[in-house]
Amino acid sequence: MFFPDYSSTTSENYLKDRGLRPTRIRVMVVDILKRQPSALKPQQIQEALPQDIDRVTFYRTILNFERHGVVHRVAGDDGHVRYALCRHEHASSGSLPRSEDHHPHFLCQRCDRTFCLEEVPIQDPILPVGFRAETVSFFLRGTCADCNPEKNKDLG
Ligand SMILES: [Zn+2]
Ligand SMILES: [Zn+2]
Repeated sequence: MFFPDYSSTTSENYLKDRGLRPTRIRVMVVDILKRQPSALKPQQIQEALPQDIDRVTFYRTILNFERHGVVHRVAGDDGHVRYALCRHEHASSGSLPRSEDHHPHFLCQRCDRTFCLEEVPIQDPILPVGFRAETVSFFLRGTCADCNPEKNKDLG
């Protein structure tokens, strides 16, 4: 199951849990991300917001969210940055630093959506002595379940 379950908490509580005051724009951005099964480009989030939210406020909100672990950046190799909600705290483990990317991301090449595969475990690589990873990124490309012709065939 790819889609995070946020139904147990409201956007307001989600923000409070992460130390942020639930202002109007913050709640709206969390609501937009909650509704999406996939990570969104900043333009996609902004398009879903009311016209009166200016660009500067929007980007300040996103940066603030990143700092507080509300969203994480999904850097694909297609040159676009996307954002997804952080479902839980990612603790540092083993040889990898505390990372928002401690789960694989999957880019569907058909529908151009990027999914957080938070249920897919990642084995920490064993690094040679003296090596220390600063960031880590696991990125897969392929076809998502919605776009998979095999799956659709099975469903008749
Ligand atoms: Zn797809
Ligand atoms: Zn993710």
